[in-house]
Amino acid sequence: MNDRTVNLRPEHHPSPETLAAYVAGSLRPGFDLVVAAHLSGCAACGEDVRRLESMGGAVLSEIGPSALSADALARTLERIGAPQPPAAPRPSLNELLASARKRWVAPGVWVAKVDTPVEPGDRVYLLGAAKGAATARHGHHGAEFTQVLSGALGEGDVVYRAGDFCQNDETRVHRPSIVGDEECVCLFATQGRLAPTGIIGRIAFALADV
Ligand SMILES: [Zn+2]
Repeated sequence: MNDRTVNLRPEHHPSPETLAAYVAGSLRPGFDLVVAAHLSGCAACGEDVRRLESMGGAVLSEIGPSALSADALARTLERIGAPQPPAAPRPSLNELLASARKRWVAPGVWVAKVDTPVEPGDRVYLLGAAKGAATARHGHHGAEFTQVLSGALGEGDVVYRAGDFCQNDETRVHRPSIVGDEECVCLFATQGRLAPTGIIGRIAFALADV
């Protein structure tokens, strides 16, 4: 389903801070997956990431070897010489999304937990909602990243369409709605609990139960 985001021109992107954290590898596990899903369909952010990566490389070469501890070379050589365990093949983003198992939680609404490492209490999941499906006003105890994979999601006056990225923090209370006739499918990463009421409560229950 992610293929549908290719060749789109997203209008809503991760913040510069989020992209920098992605490049630095400092995003929470799972949240980086949602940014990766955005990057798979956004040439503009791909450019930014490449620029940030080359800036990071320049900074490292400026620091030079003198900043390394005295035994860094020895430890590196030791690591190179040591037998390395074979790296487990990591599933691609599309494989991860395709293997997620749908569970219907309300008429027209399904949720599918994405099997990827997360911090305790965090969740990464796909959510599909048909036109007219119930949504619930809810707050967050932490950050929420959303990548729209298909359809369109309304937040106040803003419409997020396939390819768009939406980032909410813990201060935001919102009530997303489905825009248009197409089922809306989004990839979410959420930090901590959501308010356990209505549809959101059923989603949280379904995810905890997978
Ligand atoms: Zn973008």
